[in-house]
Amino acid sequence: MIKITLPDGSEREYPKGSSSYDIALSISEGLARNVLAAKVNGKIQDANLPIDTDSTLQLLTWNDTDGKSTFWHSSAHLMAEALETLYPKVKFWVGPPLENGFYYDVDTNGETISHDDFKKIEDKMLELARQKNDYVRIPMAKADAIKYFEEKGDEYKLDLLSNLEDGSITFYKQGNFTDLCRGPHIPNTGFIKAAKIMNVAGAYFKGDQNNKMLTRIYGITFPKAKELEEYLVLLEEAKRRDHRKLGQELELFTFSEKVGKGLPLWLPKGAMLRERLENFLRKAQVRAGYQQVVTPHIGSKQLYVTSGHWEKYGKDSFQPIRTPEEGEEFMLKPMNCPHHCEIYASRPRSYRELPLRLAEFGTVYRYEQSGELHGLTRVRGFTQDDAHIFCTDDQVENEFKKVIDLVLYVFNSLGFEDFSAQVSLRDPENKTKYFGSDEAWDKAENAIRRAAAEKGLKTVEELGEAAFYGPKLDFMVKDALGRKWQLGTIQVDYQLPDRFALEYIGSDNQKHRPVMIHRAPFGSMERFIAILIETTAGNFPLWLSPDQIAILPISEKYEDYANELFLTLQEQDIRGFVDHRDEKIGRKIRDAEVNKLPLMLIVGEKEQEEGKVSVRRKGEGDLGSMTIEEFINYAKTEINKNIPQFK
Ligand SMILES: [Zn+2]
Ligand SMILES: [Zn+2]
Repeated sequence: MIKITLPDGSEREYPKGSSSYDIALSISEGLARNVLAAKVNGKIQDANLPIDTDSTLQLLTWNDTDGKSTFWHSSAHLMAEALETLYPKVKFWVGPPLENGFYYDVDTNGETISHDDFKKIEDKMLELARQKNDYVRIPMAKADAIKYFEEKGDEYKLDLLSNLEDGSITFYKQGNFTDLCRGPHIPNTGFIKAAKIMNVAGAYFKGDQNNKMLTRIYGITFPKAKELEEYLVLLEEAKRRDHRKLGQELELFTFSEKVGKGLPLWLPKGAMLRERLENFLRKAQVRAGYQQVVTPHIGSKQLYVTSGHWEKYGKDSFQPIRTPEEGEEFMLKPMNCPHHCEIYASRPRSYRELPLRLAEFGTVYRYEQSGELHGLTRVRGFTQDDAHIFCTDDQVENEFKKVIDLVLYVFNSLGFEDFSAQVSLRDPENKTKYFGSDEAWDKAENAIRRAAAEKGLKTVEELGEAAFYGPKLDFMVKDALGRKWQLGTIQVDYQLPDRFALEYIGSDNQKHRPVMIHRAPFGSMERFIAILIETTAGNFPLWLSPDQIAILPISEKYEDYANELFLTLQEQDIRGFVDHRDEKIGRKIRDAEVNKLPLMLIVGEKEQEEGKVSVRRKGEGDLGSMTIEEFINYAKTEINKNIPQFK
């Protein structure tokens, strides 16, 4: 007998060689029907593999991320089978799962696969799925595997095989399709009830531009037809909320090929939004004891040699700029940290000054391949809401907690509820690639764990995800499409203080090295605003909205009254504009609604005579007429109602 420990801690005994499926069946038939794969001692494997030793077991279903990945990867095999049936000359490279769906890179061997073929492929996939073919695992000797693909004439799989060791190689076969794969897979194709080919794109073999261009076919599948329908609705909604589309419609930002790829241009309304966000954080940072600094957009190349950035990223950065006369070399600033180190080092420091918190909305420039650029979420120039905290070892935990408070304040204030926190730790198997002593790492990792736990954060720990200079806590937020983006980050750093030989005089009158914490609650203004646009669909809270009011005169007779009103409101810090266009009032209201204006003030003869305004609020409709004073009170209450306060 073997002992199986389930995720709830319960233990059960089973005959040696029982499969995960058998164990599921012993719990309930319904569960067994839904098991896609299993995590045995932390490793995902096929549900039908025998288990021979005492093990921990997690049964994976559609509700588990790993279950979905297995489902989608298995679907890539199914799509490959459909492709091979429809286009017998196709050759296959790799077909991994994605966060939503999967793709397969294929060499079509001269065939064209376009949108018009999607339906045909989907139909074939479903036809094959209905055959409920098992995914059969077949261990193969390397020589036999090579022989198989040589006969098939598939140089891509032969390339994959060349990197595999004999004894570790498995084939998987479902129906008439055999693939080289280490698995795992779902039990049979019958689980796949809905399939959609999403897109087709070019992708270089092994991602290398010098190699042949393959065809990447994206698909997604579901265990229920209804789930596909729901997904497609979500996708439509995501398109509607796409920050690239809304950013243009709401005149927030734009890009110009002449200015350069990946360099956003902020239009007046976008700049206003940014400014409000900056002021919001600036205010909280003052309360939290930060001091604002300003540093230049470039720095001498030597600065980045000292920081280690040149050695690590120099080749993949924008290349240095030279002065014409002296031949000095400068780099566009890829990070603010070295500049801040030099501010720290500008005079001797005492332990009494620590923690020293230096903040800057610092614009940095990083080279990204043009194919990687995406709206505001991946750009070549962006502004970090950056700060560096210089503190003692003993202060790390407390500072960490304070930064978590600040990040949570930012997320809560802006309605980001769907976020997760990741503690990125050192890979204990590979300690040499990290800078700093074991003792310091253990201390910092535990400090992060304790700080996160004390602040009630639900965290996942990822081994090997730490920066080489220290462990970190990353905050991930989902966009309208459900894609995860890293926004806020808090990172402990032992390396830079060392490289810059930073010191402070301790209470013992001796020199000590401070620890540095990098942190950015927004991450970058660009990415943060992109996600904010998508989560709010452009309906920003009143305190953030670039324009809070639009004054809509019914005809030009009331222009003077409208202008006067505008100035009165402006004095009260209520921002907006007068719609001077020669349009019917119905049109003006409609346009204000399309532009997501929170408050509309309609003025005509009656309003002018009585010194009043007719108020409409987006989402609420007509609020009736108010005196100007009444409106100012109303607006101020509404604006302040949602302005967060950092304590
Ligand atoms: Zn596979
Ligand atoms: Zn930094």
